[in-house]
Amino acid sequence: MLDYIAPVEDMQFVLFDLLDAESEWREMAAFSEIDRDIARVILDEAGKLSAKVMAPLNQSADAEGAHWNDGEVKAPTGFDEAFRELTQGGWLGVSGNADYGAQGLPKMLTASLEEMFWGSNSALYLYGTLTVGAAICIDAHASDDIKSTYLPKLYTGEWTGAMALTESHAGTDLGLIRTTAKPDGDAYLITGTKIFITSGDHDLAENIVHLVLARLPEAPSGSRGISLFVVPKFLSAGTRNGWSSGSIEHKMGVRASATSVINYDDAIGYLVGEPNRGLECMFTMMNYERLSVGIQGLGLAELAYQNASRYTRERIQGRSASGPLNPDGPADSILVHPDVRRMMLTQRAYIEGGRALSTFVGAALDRAKWATDAETRQASQRIVDLTTPVVKAFLTDRGHECSVLAQQVFGGHGYIVENGAEQIVRDVRIAQIYEGTNGVQALDFAARKVLRDGGVALGDFIELMRSDMGDPELSDDLNAAIDRLESVAAWLVEAASNDVELAGAASVDMLDLFGHVAFAWLWSRMSAVAPENEFGARKKMVARFFFDKLLPKIYALDAQIRRGSRHVMAYPEDAF
Ligand SMILES: Cc1cc2nc3c(=O)[nH]c(=O)nc-3n(C[C@H](O)[C@H](O)[C@H](O)COP(=O)(O)OP(=O)(O)OC[C@H]3O[C@@H](n4cnc5c(N)ncnc54)[C@H](O)[C@@H]3O)c2cc1C
Repeated sequence: MLDYIAPVEDMQFVLFDLLDAESEWREMAAFSEIDRDIARVILDEAGKLSAKVMAPLNQSADAEGAHWNDGEVKAPTGFDEAFRELTQGGWLGVSGNADYGAQGLPKMLTASLEEMFWGSNSALYLYGTLTVGAAICIDAHASDDIKSTYLPKLYTGEWTGAMALTESHAGTDLGLIRTTAKPDGDAYLITGTKIFITSGDHDLAENIVHLVLARLPEAPSGSRGISLFVVPKFLSAGTRNGWSSGSIEHKMGVRASATSVINYDDAIGYLVGEPNRGLECMFTMMNYERLSVGIQGLGLAELAYQNASRYTRERIQGRSASGPLNPDGPADSILVHPDVRRMMLTQRAYIEGGRALSTFVGAALDRAKWATDAETRQASQRIVDLTTPVVKAFLTDRGHECSVLAQQVFGGHGYIVENGAEQIVRDVRIAQIYEGTNGVQALDFAARKVLRDGGVALGDFIELMRSDMGDPELSDDLNAAIDRLESVAAWLVEAASNDVELAGAASVDMLDLFGHVAFAWLWSRMSAVAPENEFGARKKMVARFFFDKLLPKIYALDAQIRRGSRHVMAYPEDAF
């Protein structure tokens, strides 16, 4: 049984002890009414919803899957009531625009809520999370008319959102899309086929609002000729628009989430933003979803850890190397074995580091939007831009690693469906692929975020890390790690000017190296502010495990990066 308990104590530690959320909120007019007590109530309520309503459906819905029957798409048993609790509680509109009925809570707080919803039932939350992204995109780019028609319904979850980009021949390279948009009075007629559309159709909402990328007549080829349209399922009550679900995919994981092929046949759509600037508008949604998907990796890692941790308390096998610790029993706990401890502590270190990073980026997003001075807003936006691909890729790669480690802790029992560990491995895998594959995130990080400005944004982040080194006991190791990041980045900037393939060849290693150093910085700061009690003592221990056993990976990554691109690119294409 995949039980889930929201890690509220740890979330509060990150918010208030590590990142001093109350001071942040006091300085921003939009959040001045929120304090620790209110945040605690919100975290507790979301925790109850995730543990009592969402988690109990996780395994049964996976076994049942979503249904497609003659164009009608249905979510699995129980999702209807659970989704209603999610929407009627206002949980989809928590961080949205208060002018349109949302609650406008700080992202630094709602990041924790997202973690709970992803962790307790990713497939169910997939029916909701694209709604939030669609609303943010409409809010940023659409006309007032479109905003007032769609936003209130989306924030209450009466209507849900979907993102329709991908076509069978166009995934990463969206410049290749062929779906067309023909002007028709004030609207446009959309024709084409999109694939892999998460929550593109289902029976949980009155209306489903697609944000569709399509080409206007005579639009320039490639990514500069793509426009964005709102294309609802119902044009008014009972009047269907011209699109339908052609089928749903049979997937490795998140099987309870309906992933549709959508056929648009002169469907009526309304332009969002400027003609031919659709991809830029869509990035508002994609950047939101990228952070959220990173948090999906984190939430599922937490679920996997909790499941494995319960198992370690029951399973006895073999004896401790230092002599029997359970002499009256036939064997000792598997936790006497250093390798089992390695697996469990690796999960703890990456999960708690990931929680710190996602909340830190949430705080930067809040400041980028609400800080009173322009300089803080700009500096915060630079942090968000630099770290968004890292949260997406590093947290989902770690999420996958942690889920596999948790499964391994179960031994053969981890391979058996009832124990739930294998479902998490299947479910988390998609987070490394959608919203831009992790390889593409790494390229974005290395080429666009680090190399394009000659390492300036990265340099600012390094300065930020040096301005608060955290626990003095860890500062030598942290200093060495930051120096190494700085030196490899300087090497990359220099060497990339003579090698066009270098950014691509080094990108995944570079993102991994940055992720480990950023985690080390946050771990050192967590260790410094850990309270003088059992919780704090454990925090300090996991910090030291991270520094001893995980941070040293950066030295191997450094060596890999400096070996360059030659033996990646030399191998002939026809020999693969
Ligand atoms: C379950 C599921 C749900 C999805 N939900 C949605 C959705 O709601 N809306 C939507 O529009 N799409 C959705 N997608 C599509 C998803 O975003 C794409 O599958 C993904 O972006 C990759 O595109 P692709 O599958 O065409 O792979 P490709 O682009 O063909 O990539 C193949 C491989 O080449 C690599 N590659 C490609 N280009 C580059 C490059 N320039 N540099 C380095 N490596 C590169 C990729 O990393 C990958 O390893 C979903 C997909 C799945 C499976």
